[in-house]
Amino acid sequence: AAPHQHRLAVGIDLGTTNSLVATVKSGSAVCLPDHDGRTLLPSVVHYGKDDELLIGHAAQQKQNEDPSNTLVSVKRFMGRGINDIADLATPYRFVDEPGMLKIVTRAGIKSPVEVSSEILKNLKTRAEESLGGELVGAVITVPAYFDDAQRQATKDAATLAGLNVLRLLNEPTAAAIAYGLDNASEGTYVIYDLGGGTFDVSVLELTRGVFEVRATSGDSQLGGDDFDHRIYCWILEQAGIHGPNPNDTRLLLTRAREAKEALTDHLSTQITAVLSDGAIVDLTLSAEQFHTMTAHQISKTLLPVKKALRDAKLNIEDVKGVVLVGGATRMPHVRKAVRELFNQEPLTNLDPDKVVAIGAAIQANVLAGN
Ligand code: AMP
Repeated sequence: AAPHQHRLAVGIDLGTTNSLVATVKSGSAVCLPDHDGRTLLPSVVHYGKDDELLIGHAAQQKQNEDPSNTLVSVKRFMGRGINDIADLATPYRFVDEPGMLKIVTRAGIKSPVEVSSEILKNLKTRAEESLGGELVGAVITVPAYFDDAQRQATKDAATLAGLNVLRLLNEPTAAAIAYGLDNASEGTYVIYDLGGGTFDVSVLELTRGVFEVRATSGDSQLGGDDFDHRIYCWILEQAGIHGPNPNDTRLLLTRAREAKEALTDHLSTQITAVLSDGAIVDLTLSAEQFHTMTAHQISKTLLPVKKALRDAKLNIEDVKGVVLVGGATRMPHVRKAVRELFNQEPLTNLDPDKVVAIGAAIQANVLAGN
């Protein structure tokens, strides 16, 4: 290749619920959309009849109909044996043997590595079509708490997808890079990541342009979904609904999620639904009510933050900056709680769903020698 030719490299956020691919184009990092303009790819793989293989949104639509052949959240299984996940409730049938976990599907026995590689292949194709060339490599992000087996499994998935792994990068480090903090003043930074189903907090130390993870903590059972669930319970209470059937539950959980998201930008919202018996739900929920009913969920995130700082032997005053990651950090009362805990404005100007992929893309661009 000519010395000044741009070498195509991408950053991939391989997430539990959603994955994204990003690249640096004429100096700025952008997430690459699919043909329908969507940047988020649900991390879902469906093994259908007649060898049908669906990835992403199309796979997600099969989840209710055919849960045991629709693999969601396989990230939780990466590099794990059957005993590591004994307490997880899933609709899957696992192969009962020691060693790495495997799942029985219609298309045969699949390892989490193989399933993840389908997601990565999809993103690789998306990137190559969109950029019009072959990728020289990818930076793939992993949670800071991933152990060696989980990291190796992620690398194996990438290799199987035909990707050249330039580096695995810790998710919180990627978020910090996205905000250019590697060029900021040396010191301690906190990454607060509240996603759909999990909460992760990381304490990073920046010295001479290099981040080191000083401590991690979190709550694997706490995320935006729990805020939906609070609203859902409130709807049942207000509308006097007892023992809703699965369809009504699904519908009301969707309405709850929509209400939560609406309350990020509005002071109140209308919740309406027609239940399967014809009954009509029509309620108004104010942001203030929502904030009060979920104050407990918010305070549950602050405990791991304090614990991580304690583990790193640091105080609140030592923190130079705070980065918010994950869609649920859009909620104004989350931002307020973080601001009040740290006595400073958290960094929020990048899209919290994209910040990890963006940071990975910036790193990939450097490693590719552009
Ligand atoms: P993530 O796993 O990072 O994609 O986060 C997904 C979570 O973010 C889900 O619980 C979403 O409902 C939530 N979310 C997305 N957009 C908003 C919004 N505008 N306001 C509040 N929560 C949101």
